[in-house]
Amino acid sequence: MIIVGGGLAGLTAAIHLSQENHSVLVVEKKIYPHHKVCGEYISNEIVPYFKKLGIPWGAKGAVQIDTLQISTRNGKSTQTKLPLGGTGISRFAFDNLLYQKAIEYGVVFKFNTVVKIEHQNNVFEVITDINESYTSNITIGAYGKRSALDKELNRDFIRHKSEWLGVKSHYENDSFPENLVALHNFNGGYGGLSKTETGAVNFCYLASYKSFQKEKNIPNFTENVVAENPFLNEFLSNSKPIFKEPLTIAQISFQQKKAVENHILMCGDTAGLIHPLCGNGMAMAIHAAKIASELIHRYLSNAAYNRRQLEIDYENTWNDTFKQRLWMGRQMQSLLLNDKMSNLAIKAAIGSPSILRKLITNTHGKPIVC
Ligand SMILES: Cc1cc2nc3c(=O)[nH]c(=O)nc-3n(C[C@H](O)[C@H](O)[C@H](O)COP(=O)(O)OP(=O)(O)OC[C@H]3O[C@@H](n4cnc5c(N)ncnc54)[C@H](O)[C@@H]3O)c2cc1C
Repeated sequence: MIIVGGGLAGLTAAIHLSQENHSVLVVEKKIYPHHKVCGEYISNEIVPYFKKLGIPWGAKGAVQIDTLQISTRNGKSTQTKLPLGGTGISRFAFDNLLYQKAIEYGVVFKFNTVVKIEHQNNVFEVITDINESYTSNITIGAYGKRSALDKELNRDFIRHKSEWLGVKSHYENDSFPENLVALHNFNGGYGGLSKTETGAVNFCYLASYKSFQKEKNIPNFTENVVAENPFLNEFLSNSKPIFKEPLTIAQISFQQKKAVENHILMCGDTAGLIHPLCGNGMAMAIHAAKIASELIHRYLSNAAYNRRQLEIDYENTWNDTFKQRLWMGRQMQSLLLNDKMSNLAIKAAIGSPSILRKLITNTHGKPIVC
């Protein structure tokens, strides 16, 4: 089978399916390791599944995080214990860890960009930018938030404007607590801070174009808008950037997507992206890979289970598992970006930390049952 995109969803599905003795080809456009725009805080709900897959989790210094801090633009803040907790690990290390594991299980990799996926007579043809083509009976689309492929597949969400921008960089800051993930609000966006396995603090923020456009570039935006939040001001004044330039991604879309398009099972962000403030996109991508892999294994080993049923089951299970979380994420994002409402919400959370814990539980899953 072919997996288009070797991020967390694609690599996890590759490991899972190769362990079930299926031959897997991953077509990924970038060689490993590489940095990605991401908050790099992953919920511990994935731990039981990684144990089952034999992925050495917690190794290589990944940081255990058990506390969440939230602040409003003017510095009102509260903290709470995270019900499940999470791990701080850079995408540079994380994706590479899964890539090495996939290689161990015999997964084949091609490093090219996929430009077309066709489906005819029950066979997929996957075509790359160097005009190589591969065929398979199953294709997983795990190529992330947005790609030229979405246009090629005529997906509905791509026609809507996406007004979000993501920026990420690593910083040296010895005084940032290891067990903390902090979410700080500013005008038109919010940023997350947490430590990674190298000891560096990852600072990743999401900003609306509307608020970014006024400042025109990242240094001005950081100084005049991001650093308005006293916590971010304090962090940026006392930290040394490690990257030469921050990494950026544009046109981040939170529109609803379909989990199956043109018979391709979409996985991870390709099927739907939760608002980053929930800190759950990576766990969802990994969980979706498990759902897809189990159903694909059933399809490939049971002649009575047909493609139509596979697609219906995948779409239904995806919706049952994630739709509520995505909805909750949308509500929380509009609350956080509204000054008046976020001040009120934080005030309420300071008075009753259980409110915040409830919101966290509603945007996260339970430990993945294996
Ligand atoms: C600003 C921001 C902060 C975030 N912070 C967090 C956080 O703290 N915690 C959390 O859990 N989630 C967070 N997320 C969400 C998280 O990053 C994603 O949900 C997660 O990366 C999804 O994994 P994926 O495998 O679906 O996609 P990706 O990891 O994006 O992988 C897709 C892969 O496909 C490849 N690709 C793309 N197009 C093609 C093509 N045409 N051909 C071949 N290969 C292709 C790419 O190179 C990439 O490797 C954040 C997201 C944003 C935008």
